[in-house]
Amino acid sequence: MRPFQPMTFLVILALAICILAGLWILWRAARLRSAAPRCTRCKTENRPDARFCACCGASLQPAPGSTEEKDTTHA
Ligand SMILES: [Zn+2]
Repeated sequence: MRPFQPMTFLVILALAICILAGLWILWRAARLRSAAPRCTRCKTENRPDARFCACCGASLQPAPGSTEEKDTTHA
């Protein structure tokens, strides 16, 4: 009986790659989920690349550099 079998090593390596890939996918999904912008009006989670809420159409993030006026003077 040989002390070391290459096939066993390959199987273990494949399992390790599968586990790492699964963890990476879960981590990526969790990161995307956490980065998903939540609407401040209706609390709906939108896609990370969404600029407006898919439910109520509210702006999810202010346009960078355009205007920084967030006061209530326009109301
Ligand atoms: Zn909304």
